[in-house]
Amino acid sequence: MKKKRVGIMGGTFDPIHIGHLVIAELVRDEFSLDKVVFIPAAEPPHKLNQKVTRAEHRYAMTEMAIASNLHFEISDIEMRRTGPSYTINTMTELVKDFGDDNDFYFIVGADSILDLPNWDRVDDLLNLCHFVGTSRPGCIVDMEKMKAELGEIAGEKIHIIETPELEISSTDIRRRLSKGTSIKYIVPAEVEEYIYKNKLYI
Ligand code: ATP
Ligand code: MG
Repeated sequence: MKKKRVGIMGGTFDPIHIGHLVIAELVRDEFSLDKVVFIPAAEPPHKLNQKVTRAEHRYAMTEMAIASNLHFEISDIEMRRTGPSYTINTMTELVKDFGDDNDFYFIVGADSILDLPNWDRVDDLLNLCHFVGTSRPGCIVDMEKMKAELGEIAGEKIHIIETPELEISSTDIRRRLSKGTSIKYIVPAEVEEYIYKNKLYI
């Protein structure tokens, strides 16, 4: 049986914004993925000394943001684990449970590709899934440098695609909310409403 191609969109999603949704959909289309699974991190390892919104809120916002896309799903796999949410643990679990039927494509922005050499057990991770890096303002990926750092497997497993550069980040959205400036159209309307209703980021 032909394996399914599954996109994995991991993130803190604090909050989820249209940048996340746009890259997930563009990669789904370009790589003919059967679906994309959004996985909110319970405890992002690179944000351990920074305040992150309660996982339940980030999960709820992610769930409502993807509801209108039939190809998008959400998973609580990282929320069910305690301790920092290392991608290697998540992918090991997914490959063990679903690897016979699925090939995995981890979707990220170029900033995450540049950071990959710092990820826990990245060489094992590259054996478990592909990475698809999308454009992000200010981030230029040099694949020769990546191969020098991560080995030849980087050339086989990391795919860099050009996507429209979206000058959008959760950091900027949190800053806007703390100043009381508008975030309309930067996040889906349901997410905007949820943020105000729950008085997040004020
Ligand atoms: P923060 O500013 O809090 O770090 P963020 O906007 O970077 O938030 P994350 O949850 O950290 O969002 O990102 C999850 C994934 O989405 C990462 O791989 C990141 O590179 C990617 N991503 C986020 N925003 C964009 C964007 N505007 N363009 C391309 N990729 C993005
Ligand atoms: Mg980020």
